[in-house]
Amino acid sequence: MLSILPKKILYWYDNNKRILPWRINTSKNKKEYYVLVSEFMLQQTQVKTVIPYFLKFVTKIPDLKALSKCKEKKVLKLWEGLGYYKRAKNLHKTATILVKNYNSKLPKKIEKIIKLPGVGEYTASALSALIHNKECIPIDGNVKRVFSRLFLTDVNIQNFDTEIKKIINKLPKVDRNADLAEALMEFGAVVCKPQNPLCKICHLQKYCKFFNGKNYISLNKKFSIKEKKINIYCYLNKYKKEIALTKNKNLSFLNNFKMPEIQMVVANNNLKKKGWHYLCSYKNNISNIKMNIDLFYKFTKNIPKKFNWYSVDRSSQEFIPSFTKKIFKKIAKVYN
Ligand code: SF4
Repeated sequence: MLSILPKKILYWYDNNKRILPWRINTSKNKKEYYVLVSEFMLQQTQVKTVIPYFLKFVTKIPDLKALSKCKEKKVLKLWEGLGYYKRAKNLHKTATILVKNYNSKLPKKIEKIIKLPGVGEYTASALSALIHNKECIPIDGNVKRVFSRLFLTDVNIQNFDTEIKKIINKLPKVDRNADLAEALMEFGAVVCKPQNPLCKICHLQKYCKFFNGKNYISLNKKFSIKEKKINIYCYLNKYKKEIALTKNKNLSFLNNFKMPEIQMVVANNNLKKKGWHYLCSYKNNISNIKMNIDLFYKFTKNIPKKFNWYSVDRSSQEFIPSFTKKIFKKIAKVYN
């Protein structure tokens, strides 16, 4: 099966690939820029969420040189709502390095690509495959799922990632490395989906251990969406209409962005603190994390040292993540 997999997957891709804005036919330089921007945006985020942000981004900042000259504030503003803002900062830094040190091109050697800000093993492989057609499959959740279902079925084995890599390394060589990398990721996203894979119409079903072993339950468990329960505590200045914010350290995807106090709620542990008023509960979904939030507030003039007062009405003038903007909207009700 391994020997015919690239051919089968490429055949499927040629006939079914989605039309995505970063895949359009354009000049080599533009293509490189589009792949770079889209790969940063696609880290932790689904394609359909990324598309409108990508289009807005490349319209306002059309090429690598323009991005390198841009103020970070503008990049963050265009990223607003997409989350995981460190990606925007890293993309900006990467563009500056590429223009300054590499004549506005992505280096050929993967050891150099991996040293760029915000580029880990996965993104380095993706950039290398998609831009330089190098023989390296970026192993994201989609690719892991496809290979584990086809060849392993048991995701609970020790060294799961190593086993998947071993299988991928045995794939026969092809000329179309860029297309193969895209095809495998796309196949995982569109056909071999985490929940309800389209096995009935899948042209690989006769080779697939997962399909033939009817082993759906354990796999779905492994790739399911994570749920988190969090409490948010807002210190409020009643008379100045201010909210106290600090640099967030608890939610990794919003690292260092300003927000109120956040506590992750451990199961069966009631963390509701004394003297706080309950305001409301709501959900906020970011990428594959579903957050169930309880919001509390307290009027006070004394705030912990690391906090600063922040006018609720100034929220639209400054860059704050949409996660915090939602909190502002809810808190506004307290003042009405
Ligand atoms: S048969 Fe189902 S599980 Fe197997 S590769 Fe196809 S979609 Fe994935």
